[in-house]
Amino acid sequence: MAPRRRSPSSPPATPVPAGGATSAGEGSLAAATSEDLVRELLRRLGEDPTREGLRKTPLRVAQSLAYLTAGAAKAPKDVLNGAVFEHDADEMVVVRDIEVYSLCEHHLLPFFGRAHVAYLPRGKIVGLSKLPRIVDCFARRLQVQERLTMQIAEAVEEILAPAGVGVVIEAAHLCMMMRGVEKQNSRAVTSCMRGRFRTDARTRQEFLQILRGPTV
Ligand SMILES: [Zn+2]
Repeated sequence: MAPRRRSPSSPPATPVPAGGATSAGEGSLAAATSEDLVRELLRRLGEDPTREGLRKTPLRVAQSLAYLTAGAAKAPKDVLNGAVFEHDADEMVVVRDIEVYSLCEHHLLPFFGRAHVAYLPRGKIVGLSKLPRIVDCFARRLQVQERLTMQIAEAVEEILAPAGVGVVIEAAHLCMMMRGVEKQNSRAVTSCMRGRFRTDARTRQEFLQILRGPTV
C-alpha cells in the first residue's frame, strides 16, 4: 500500500486496536482528515483507493462536499451586501425559475429543480439578484426540501418585513430516482405562503398564475 501522507500538524498515529475499524496509521476518527475518511469509505465499498482513477478522489470529494455545504456557515444577511432599498410601490415582485441544487440530508444525494420567490413590498425592496443568493445560501447545506422552502420565506420576511411572501420549489430527488422507489418522473413541490399570500386567495392566485405563465 502507498505510504500514508500526513500533514506535519496532525497528531501521531495511535495504535490500532485489534479488529479496529481504522486502517493502519489512521489514528482516531476525529483526527482523520475528510480525505482520510473518503479514502476509507472507498475501501469499504470494495475499491482500491490507490488505483489511478481514484487517487485524487478523496481530495475532490472532500472539496466538493465543503463547497456544497458552505451555506451552513452563512447568514442570508451576509449575501445581501446592503442591497436593500426604500421603495414606495406595493406591487408583487416575483423571481421565478431560480435554479436550485441541494443535498438531501437523508442520503447525501442531490435534489435539484427550480425555486420561485415572490413578495409584496411594504416600503422596502431587495436587489433582484439577491433572491437567488438567498436561495443558494440555504440550498448549500444538508437539507430537506420542506425546510429549504420555509427558510427562504422566513429570510425574505425577516429582511424586508413585506406584506407577504410566497415561495414554491419544484425539485427532482436523486434518492428517489436512483434508489428506493426509482421514480424518474416524479417531482416534489413544496410551498410556503406567509402574510397576504396566506390570507388573501387573490394574491396567492396571482402568484401561482405568474408561475404558470410563459417563460421569456
Ligand atoms: Zn434523500
